[in-house]
Amino acid sequence: MPIAASQRLQALPPYIFAELHRRRRAAIDAGRDVIDFGVGDPDRPTHAFIIDRMTRAIRDPKNHLYALGGGTPAFRQQMAAFFADRYGVELDAARELLALVGTKEGIGHLPLAVVNPGQTVLVPSPGYPVYQAAAIFAGAKPYVLKLEPDRGWLPDLDAVSHDVTQNAALLFLNYPNNPTGAVATREFFERAVAFARERDLLVAHDAAYNELYLDDQPPPSILQVSGARDVAIEFHSASKTFNMTGWRVGFVAGNPDVIAALAAVKANFDSGVFGAVQEAAAEAFQGIDRPEVREIRSVYRSRAELLCQGLQKLGFQAQPPAATFYVWARVPPHVDSMSACNRLLDEADIVGVPGIAFGPTADDHVRFSLGVPAERIKLAVERMGAIQW
Ligand SMILES: *Cc1c(COP(=O)(O)O)cnc(C)c1O
Repeated sequence: MPIAASQRLQALPPYIFAELHRRRRAAIDAGRDVIDFGVGDPDRPTHAFIIDRMTRAIRDPKNHLYALGGGTPAFRQQMAAFFADRYGVELDAARELLALVGTKEGIGHLPLAVVNPGQTVLVPSPGYPVYQAAAIFAGAKPYVLKLEPDRGWLPDLDAVSHDVTQNAALLFLNYPNNPTGAVATREFFERAVAFARERDLLVAHDAAYNELYLDDQPPPSILQVSGARDVAIEFHSASKTFNMTGWRVGFVAGNPDVIAALAAVKANFDSGVFGAVQEAAAEAFQGIDRPEVREIRSVYRSRAELLCQGLQKLGFQAQPPAATFYVWARVPPHVDSMSACNRLLDEADIVGVPGIAFGPTADDHVRFSLGVPAERIKLAVERMGAIQW
C-alpha cells in the first residue's frame, strides 16, 4: 500500500518552483539554450574575502563540534554591531539575536513557536510562499492580505477587519519585497507596529533584501520604530547580499520572548549553524560596505533596466525595482501568468516565475530574477521580440 503524505503536507498548495524546475530541466536536457530568470539565486560566486575566512575557519577544531546555543557570541556580536551601524538600533546580542540556518528556516519554524492550531496568520499576496506553508504546518489558518500597486504594494492594514484579527497571532511582512521589488517607508513600519499593538499580534518582518537596494538609501528596519521590540522581529540573510544562498546562514533580531521560543523550537530540529559558516557570515556582514559588495547593486540596476526595455517591447508593463533583484512585470491583458510563462519557455527558451506562485491575487504578473549576465539578458530581449500574444 502506498504511504500517504500527512494531512498537513497535503494541505500545502503545490510548490510551483519545483514544477518550474522540472520543466526547465526538461528543456535543458532536450539541448535547448535556456535563459533562466526563474529561481532567485545570484549568478556570481561568494566574495573572496568571505571564502578566505571560511578556509581558515574550517581548520579550527572548535568549529567541528555541534554549534549549540543559537549562534556563537562572536556571530551575535557582529550582527548586533551591524544593526547599530546600519540602523542605529542597539540589540542585546545574547537575548535579541539568534542565528538561523538561512532565514527560510527561521520563517518556516516561527509559527510553531508562537501560533496555536486554529489561529490565523496574515500572509501577503503576492508573497514568498514559505509564510503560508509555515502557517499551515503549524495548524494555523492563513489569511491573504492583498498587496496592490496603487498602494506601493503595501497592505492596507486599516482595512483588515477585527473579525479577522480577533484570532490572529502573526503578521508576515517583507520589504524590500519579493516579488514586487517594493520598499516600505519608516511610516509604514510605524503603522504596522501600532497595528500589532492594537490587534495584539506579532509582526515578523522579512528583511532578506535590505542590503539589495538599488536606490541610494538603505531601506529602514522595522526595529527602528520605537517600541517595535515589544511586538516585532526581523529576519536578515547573508544569502542574496553576499551571493551565499548555498551556505545557509541568516539571523533573526527583535523581541526576546519570541527569540527564546523560536530557539526552543529550533533546538529540536537543528543543532546550530556550522561554526565555520558563522565565522564567514560574521566576516561578510563586517564587509557590508566593501566595494565588491556595493558593486552588485549597480550590476542589478543595469540588468533591471536592460530587461525592462525588453519586457516593454514584449507588451509587458515593467519598471526597474527600487530594491531586490527581481523585475515584477505585468502580463498583457487576457493572458494569465502560467500561460505567459509556458509560452516564454516554449517559444523563447526563457524561464520566468508565474505570479500565481506567489499568491491568488498575482496571476497577472510574472517575476524575472536578475541573476543573469547582461549579455544573456540582451539575447533574451531579442528572443522576446519574436513572441506575439
Ligand atoms: C530568498 C528569500 C529568503 C531566504 O533566504 P535564506 O536566508 O537563503 O533562507 C527569505 N525571504 C525571502 C523573501 C526570500 O526571497
